[in-house]
Amino acid sequence: MQTPLLEAPATCPSLEELSRAAAECTRCPLGATRTRSVFSDGNPQARIMLIGEGPGQQEDESGIPFVGRAGQLLTQILASVGIDRQQDIYICNTVKCRPPQNRKPESSEMEACFPYLAGQIQNIQPKIILLAGATAVQDILKTKEGITKIRGQWFDTPYGAKAMPIFHPSYLLRNPSKAEGSPKWLMGQDIQAVRKEAETLGIQLHGTPSPLFTSGT
Ligand code: SF4
Repeated sequence: MQTPLLEAPATCPSLEELSRAAAECTRCPLGATRTRSVFSDGNPQARIMLIGEGPGQQEDESGIPFVGRAGQLLTQILASVGIDRQQDIYICNTVKCRPPQNRKPESSEMEACFPYLAGQIQNIQPKIILLAGATAVQDILKTKEGITKIRGQWFDTPYGAKAMPIFHPSYLLRNPSKAEGSPKWLMGQDIQAVRKEAETLGIQLHGTPSPLFTSGT
């Protein structure tokens, strides 16, 4: 069954409706190979939203985005500035179904899935959107600019939210150095800037800040 595209914002389906539609969706070939669609995690009332690339194997099996090592690292990065993963942020991906062999989603797949993401943004109405990795940057900011070049900068979006590109946690797992100027070090700077912006915007955070990238992380 073909899932209907979103109509005008005023008639945007609810998150529950979108999630149900994604679970049965066959708008792109990823629908044929997924175990289950992976719609979101976190708090739909949150003012901060994070968009990643697409589900991996563990996400495909659990139906929850950002689980496994990369997910644990993301939770830790957020917690380092008091962003509680369950209360202060809404997490999703550009595509809701796992690309085989964890490949990058094709542009056509991202395009097919975009109505779900747009619907999520319309429902959540975030003030801050974090774009984890180049794929999310491409989907929202419509630029192929390298993540290393534009991470940590604020961009206006057509959705009334400010967006900041940040490194994807999987990239940080592949780059273990914590030395000044390293991706992990830069991530620490970026997430501090996110906290500062949240304070400026009056966004209440519920977590207690904790040290980032201690031994073993
Ligand atoms: S990735 Fe998106 S568009 Fe493709 S089948 Fe899954 S929900 Fe549908």
